[in-house]
Parts: sequence; C-alpha cells; structure tokens
Amino acid sequence: MEKRIAVIPGDGIGPEVIGETLRVLDCATQNSGLKLAYTHYLAGGCAIDEKGCPLPDETLAGAKNSDAVLLGAVGGWKWDALPSDMRPENALLGLRAGLGLFANVRPALLYGELASACPLKPSLTEGGLDIVVIRELTGGLYFGKKERGETWAYDTMRYSDEEVRRIAHVAMKTAMGRKKQVVSVDKANILESSRLWRKVMTEVAGEYPEITLSHMYVDNAAMQLVRNPKQFDVIVTENMFGDILSDEAAMITGSIGMLPSASLGAGTLGMYEPVHGSAPDIAGQGIANPLATILSAAMMLRYSLGREDIAKNIENAVRKALENGARTKDIALADEKTISTSQMAEAVIGFLEV
Ligand code: NAD
Repeated sequence: MEKRIAVIPGDGIGPEVIGETLRVLDCATQNSGLKLAYTHYLAGGCAIDEKGCPLPDETLAGAKNSDAVLLGAVGGWKWDALPSDMRPENALLGLRAGLGLFANVRPALLYGELASACPLKPSLTEGGLDIVVIRELTGGLYFGKKERGETWAYDTMRYSDEEVRRIAHVAMKTAMGRKKQVVSVDKANILESSRLWRKVMTEVAGEYPEITLSHMYVDNAAMQLVRNPKQFDVIVTENMFGDILSDEAAMITGSIGMLPSASLGAGTLGMYEPVHGSAPDIAGQGIANPLATILSAAMMLRYSLGREDIAKNIENAVRKALENGARTKDIALADEKTISTSQMAEAVIGFLEV
C-alpha cells in the first residue's frame, strides 16, 4: 500500500533531522507492504526567502492532499526582525488551522538510560517516566476575541461543548492503550470555560467505563508534575494550560532533542514534528539529535498510517540504541563519547528488525 507523506524540513536543524528520519523510515518500511511516497514542501524561513511568505499555498494544498505531514522545525535569527504576521512560526499555525488539527499529543518519556539528564531527584523518577500530555490546539485563549486599546487589552477564553468533547475522546482513546488514567486539568474554581470543560470531560468519560478520570486545577498540576510526576498517565487540558504544562513535562524528561509530537484532527491526517525548534545555534554542524523526529515518524506510523507494528519497531530500536550507549552531544554526560546526527540514525537503523 502506498501512502503520501508531505515532508516539510523547514529551517536550521530541520533538514538535518528530517533527512536522517527518512533514512530510518525507508529502512523500517522495507518488506513491510507499506510504501511511503515523499513530496517535499517549503515552510518557514526558507519559504519566506524563496516564495515571500511562511506558508505558500502549494505547501498547504500538498499537506491537505497527503496522508500525513512530517515537519522538521521552522524559524531562526535571520527572520526574527520580521513583522509578526510574516514570522516563520506562522507556518505552523496556518498548517494546524488549515488541516483542522485540534489535538496536540506529546509523550514525555524518560528513558532509564537518560535518567541523569532529568533535573528532578532520582527518587522521584525511579523506573522512568511515561506521561502523555494532550493539549487542545485550536480554541481557548489563543484563538478567542482579543483587542488592544491605548491603555487596555483583553483576550477571551471561549470553548464550545463540541470542542471539549472531541479532545476528550482523543484523551480517553489514548488512555485506553495505556494505564487508563486521565487527569483533566482546568481552573474550574475560577473560570466559567473550565466549568464547561469539566462537565463535558465527565460526560465523555462515562462512555469509557474502564477509564479513571480525575480533575486537577492547573496550578496544582504544575506543582504535582515536579512533586510526583509518576502519578500521571494521560493529562488533557486546554490550549494555554497545555502549552505550559507540556513544556514542563518535556523538561522533566531531560532533553528537548528526544521529544516527539503529533497534531491530530477528526480523521487520520496528522502532522508530526519534534517538540524542539530549529536550534540555529547548532545548525549545519551535524550534531543535532534526530531522535525526536525519528520518534515523531513512529507516531505518524501509529496514528495516521495504522502501522503500530512499524512504530513499535522504531521505538524499540531507539531504546536499544540508547541502551547501547549511542549519545548525541545534548544527551551525553561530560565523559561520554558523542556521535553525529547521521551516526545516531545509523545506530537506530542497526537495531531495526527488518
Ligand atoms: P530550540 O528548541 O530551537 O533550541 C533550544 C536549545 O535546545 C538550543 O540550545 C538548541 O541547540 C537545543 N536543541 C534543540 N533541538 C535540539 C536537538 N534536536 N538536538 C540537540 N540540541 C537541540 O528553541 P529556541 O532556541 O527557543 O528557538 C530557535 C528557533 O526555533 C526560533 O526561531 C523559534 O521560534 C523556533 N521554534 C520553532 C519550533 C517549531 O518549528 N515547532 C518550536 C520552537 C521554536
């Protein structure tokens, strides 16, 4: 079976980590009955340079016409002075909105081998961490009505029950494949939108009798993530709370170079990208960690291409490469030998079962 993948390398280390990820994908899919047809598109700073805008029409059209989108990262110092509507990062917002991607799924996994990279006390993370943060992506404060006067400004947080319902289903379904525990994070003691959020979450959880749903205020959730992170399985929350908590969850796993993400909509089309940015400080040096992008490709196989088997094969190969001591600079201790971006991809390829 052939699937169309829109590949958007972007800027900085984006093309480096995407190139290595495609090598891993090619190897992982050989003899699998799945053929991936890649089409490359421009977005971000490189699109501004070549086409005059961060998200050219053909990129959005190509993404819409694909089975999945694999993205590196966009942005960089070169474009920092541009007006806000011309910034490279607008490409991400345009793709998310244009593809109707309302759920951002971010696993925060602390591998036992990398435990020393975690800033928390070892006793808090013994045995590793495995949390998934599900963030509502197209509603709430970031998209509500906003206005600015000379001496005042406001933003509004608005949710419809349908917006909450659809993200609730993503959370429950994700938890069904895990420990079946969902913590819904809100600020229902203060915010009216949170009271609606809590009501709808509870209703939807009723459709999944095996799921244990609990509710937590966002200030407490921020504290609990560093006090006792092992209590969490799946966290689901609105856009801004999710933006903040997913970064916090990412940080407690140690390296931003390790964390993948998926943005999902109503159908199977999704966009997959590492959590990190374009890292202009290390671009072009061949030292970026490609694992976040490789693990994003594994999520693509799972969520958009229906190939859990190949996703698991890649994830196991990553784990084995780490167990075997493969370390790019960002995840190495001072006395550990480091390898390049492409050597890390080769280490993963070496552990694939094909
Ligand atoms: P960043 O994630 O690019 O870099 C933060 C730090 O982490 C840097 O020191 C960098 O070298 C390091 N790092 C990041 N990814 C790494 C990897 N794979 N391997 C090794 N080290 C890695 O964040 P930033 O510096 O705040 O932003 C740089 C640019 O990226 C900005 O223009 C920003 O707007 C953009 N950005 C884009 C995205 C995206 O495309 N999704 C996300 C965040 C930031």
